[in-house]
Amino acid sequence: MKGKMVKIDASIVPPTHQSTELLMGCKKNYVTQIIEGHRNPGGVESRRGQEIHHTMSLYLSHCARKGVAMDLSAFDEFSKGAGAVASKILVGVRDSYEVDFAALFATELRMSLDEDFHPTDLSAELDGTCEDSGEDAGYVGTLDGLNLYRSEGKIVIDDFKSHPRPYNPSDPDKSMQGKEYSLFCFTHFPWANEVKFRLIFVRFRKLVREVVYTRDEVPALIESVRSMRSRQKAIHEEYIAGKEIAATGNDGCVYCPLLSNRECPILQDNPNAQGEPSEWLSSSLVYSAYAKVNTARMKAHVQGTGKPIILRDYNQKCYSFGPVESESSVFPLFRKTESGIAMDAQGNPDMPIVSLLLDYAHATPDDTKWMGNLLISSTKLNSYLGTKARAMLDQAVTDTADKVTKATLKVSKPLDSIPEEPEEEGDSWDEDGEEF
Ligand code: SF4
Repeated sequence: MKGKMVKIDASIVPPTHQSTELLMGCKKNYVTQIIEGHRNPGGVESRRGQEIHHTMSLYLSHCARKGVAMDLSAFDEFSKGAGAVASKILVGVRDSYEVDFAALFATELRMSLDEDFHPTDLSAELDGTCEDSGEDAGYVGTLDGLNLYRSEGKIVIDDFKSHPRPYNPSDPDKSMQGKEYSLFCFTHFPWANEVKFRLIFVRFRKLVREVVYTRDEVPALIESVRSMRSRQKAIHEEYIAGKEIAATGNDGCVYCPLLSNRECPILQDNPNAQGEPSEWLSSSLVYSAYAKVNTARMKAHVQGTGKPIILRDYNQKCYSFGPVESESSVFPLFRKTESGIAMDAQGNPDMPIVSLLLDYAHATPDDTKWMGNLLISSTKLNSYLGTKARAMLDQAVTDTADKVTKATLKVSKPLDSIPEEPEEEGDSWDEDGEEF
């Protein structure tokens, strides 16, 4: 495998970190990235995440120094520095997040515990809060914002997330970060009886999800975090013993370097797992055909056995394939009857949604801009208008259609040939590679 590599001594187990659990969903991913050192370069998303965290850290510190809960012009300045995309994402929290400047203790604070859950590697901000065991760190983490309420015996940790899909820090498969960070606080601040771990989803206004732990839950927190550490150590032992390291599909696959270079052992079954861009397209066709066959056999299995198919990853998180009930709403244009559509007292078709919208437009003429975006999809309309009997109506409707041009990346239907790309005009190169 190509790429920058920092191989570690497999007998040394690096401290358990927020991302360790995600990596361990698949032992092969963990071994590749952590033991063999083929780290996923991270890419744009990871850089954006760092920019967002850094911006929020600057903003929090600024508000604390100034003694204000908000400073929108400072926020705009800091977020401008984070780049166009990151600053767009941060719009969600801009005018809704309030800094508790009197309680803010530190931002981007690194905390560590040794293998016995004693504070170690104390950073300067934590000097004097507790004793440093001096032992190697077994657990590390960086807290985005830490608020202390000593007189109440309470602590609030703020963690900024740029995820487009918010989640709950108390969900069993998402709870490890909150548990580990809360444990950091209980061990570093012996006076704390309650720790609230808050996820602030920065894309959204006031979207905060939280979980609260109390000191009497510390033994359970230790057990959870220790069990993650034990699983991590077990992978190192298996690797040293030369055992075959299994690959398990999980939600960490998208961050796995073995996915994009197709060295994932699960992909090796595919003869197209090497090669050129045209072969990647070939892989895409194969995968889509495979997905159809695979889904069909899974459906047959569920149908036959009456049970869902369950997959457990190395963290014991479960994925299942089986029936999932869902409900969605549709808004009928007309009111359906046995023989056609209902008419009102004046003999006009009864159109409940349209009537409501018309009433609203009359009552609030200043708030109608959005109504121009309400559409009927051409797929639905064409499915009824494409008959001889409705040809006139079809033509009239087609004449009223707005044309929307979209450019999406997709695999085409089979074509006999592709038109030749026109020769590009412009820059030319001489034999020495100099542009002229
Ligand atoms: S892509 Fe393959 S190796 Fe990587 S995490 Fe997924 S299953 Fe594991």
